[in-house]
Amino acid sequence: MAANTGEHEKFMAEAMAMAEEALAAGEVPVGCIFVRENTIIAKARNRTNELRNATRHAELEAIDEIMADPALTPPGSSGYPLADTTLYVTVEPCIMCASALRQMGIKQVLYGCSNDRFGGCGGVIGINDRLAHPSHPPYEAIGGYSREDAILILRRFYVTENSNAPTPKSKVNRVLKTEILPP
Ligand SMILES: [Zn+2]
Repeated sequence: MAANTGEHEKFMAEAMAMAEEALAAGEVPVGCIFVRENTIIAKARNRTNELRNATRHAELEAIDEIMADPALTPPGSSGYPLADTTLYVTVEPCIMCASALRQMGIKQVLYGCSNDRFGGCGGVIGINDRLAHPSHPPYEAIGGYSREDAILILRRFYVTENSNAPTPKSKVNRVLKTEILPP
């Protein structure tokens, strides 16, 4: 069932709430939710610092949660655990996550802002639909949902003093930029 624009906004707000949780925990603020039949089946956020594991991106955290629940991965439904599932994520999935999502058969990805450094859905490379693969079907990825909020929360993170850094750099003179350039 296709969600309408209002539902996209509602679901992106849920993903943004997870990004806020990440920010409060001192993580790079990226949050996501997975939706199936208009129901949230998993929500997660970045936990790379907490777990000291660079693979613990929001998307993979949520996928682990889904895979651990047999009720969310009924056998024989399609062969792909994330078929009929939409991901809402505040930042374009990175190359690692974009590849994992394709191998899991995700139906669609809706994201906030693009990831110019590591984006795997067109920001750097289009793993979602521009690379041929013999078995895993491509998936649609569309950016621009709550884009300004997604950018601003990242800026809030990067202007905040990181007291966990081995040699904390003073960022007291940094000012939060609120101007958003068009994509
Ligand atoms: Zn990632």
